Amino acid sequence: MRYPKPGGLYLSSAAEYDKYKLNLKLKKCPHCGQVGFLNAHGFLWGKTADGSQTLRGWRVFCSNRGRRGGCGRTFSIHRSNVLRRRSFRAPQLREFLKALFRGQSRHAAGVAGWLEPLRPRSVYPIWQALQRNLPRLRSLLCRRSPPPDSRQSDPILGPVAQISKHLSCAFPKAACPISAFQAHFQEPFLI
Ligand SMILES: [Zn+2]
Repeated sequence: MRYPKPGGLYLSSAAEYDKYKLNLKLKKCPHCGQVGFLNAHGFLWGKTADGSQTLRGWRVFCSNRGRRGGCGRTFSIHRSNVLRRRSFRAPQLREFLKALFRGQSRHAAGVAGWLEPLRPRSVYPIWQALQRNLPRLRSLLCRRSPPPDSRQSDPILGPVAQISKHLSCAFPKAACPISAFQAHFQEPFLI
């Protein structure tokens, strides 16, 4: 198992978390680096766009209670299909990108991709976040596979289309390459 960064760890399923939890006492705390003090510390709940509750992940506590010598800090374990600070999931973002490159407008693609109600103005910040993250995503993806040829010459859509294609090449077998990206690089897709 990867050493978690202080920002947390990405695991692809609840089953993987159960396995991780069994060996918690053998894991290093990402804050203080000590082994032997980690405890499961509950769930990370979030809200979907329609307001219902959803499991985003789990919390782990480095225990300093009693005579335990941990640092008293917590870190998060995220489900890899969860996007940081967003109410939609990685597969929905993937659907949005697919619809966009089928030629739909940004708003129509948003509606097609979202499995839950979407306000028209929520598409624009997502688009901006994608643009902002492009250089970072590109350099991470290049560590795994070379960038594919792109025939998309549109100056606005082109760079995002290129990343979308690069994701598919880097994770060809993944049901959702964005979730696979987070589990593989242990980094959020959008920051
Ligand atoms: Zn610690």
